[in-house]
Amino acid sequence: MPELLAAHRARGSAAGAFTCYGMEGAAGVLRAAERRESAGVILMISPQAYESELGEPLLATLLALGEAAAVPVCVELDHAASPALIERALDGGAGAVMADGSQLPYEENVELARAAVGLAAARGAHVEVELGHVAGDEEVARAAAAGSLTDPAQAADFLARSGAACLAVSIGNVHGHYAAEPELDLALLAAVRAEVDVPLALHGASGLPAPLIRAAIDGGVLKINVNTELRAAALDALAAGLPAARQGLRLLRLGAATCDAVADAVAAKLALFEQLDLGAPT
Ligand SMILES: [Zn+2]
Repeated sequence: MPELLAAHRARGSAAGAFTCYGMEGAAGVLRAAERRESAGVILMISPQAYESELGEPLLATLLALGEAAAVPVCVELDHAASPALIERALDGGAGAVMADGSQLPYEENVELARAAVGLAAARGAHVEVELGHVAGDEEVARAAAAGSLTDPAQAADFLARSGAACLAVSIGNVHGHYAAEPELDLALLAAVRAEVDVPLALHGASGLPAPLIRAAIDGGVLKINVNTELRAAALDALAAGLPAARQGLRLLRLGAATCDAVADAVAAKLALFEQLDLGAPT
């Protein structure tokens, strides 16, 4: 993760982090990243997915696909709230974990982050934390309004005490659908940036207009999480392809359709995040 993020920093781009629920989606992410010669992408596994019966095979699949990819890949357990789950994912080979104590009292958030950093350090892995709370639901898309915002001075204290390597900010971003016209507090982002020197992550990029995402990257965001839009793309492709696939039981077609739909959605995000063709006609 540190090398991947450093490569993006050097390019003036941000790393796309994409939640994957299966092989088809992950293959779509990697196809888009390889075609674009990305500086690297992050394949994320949600805690709900990882705790499900398919969690371990999914993690193993993401690690194997990442290993074989032609671009740098890091696999991250997203939004984990327990040290036991974090330890399991690290033992399973995840290169990064997000220790999310954002809904806990401050001191407990610090404690969770410190525990995660201790577990990750022993395995050479990377820990992302969240301060303030990014509202909304990661698994079920519904409208959400911004949660509590990140306090810049507290962020500096939080990182100094926890030793975490990446901070997810809450600056008006939400998971799922935006209840109102999305707005990011770019002045707050600048204040956080001035107080901390670790990479900043922006969750809830689905539904954020391109100019806001570009402004966030210019303001120091180095990692951008996308989930909701990919789920929509995959489910729309499945719904459209199901009647024809059902005729003749062509299951293979549905997998290919999911992969294609996710690849297209990710390609659009990478064009924005990686900014390699800024100024070129689109
Ligand atoms: Zn998130």
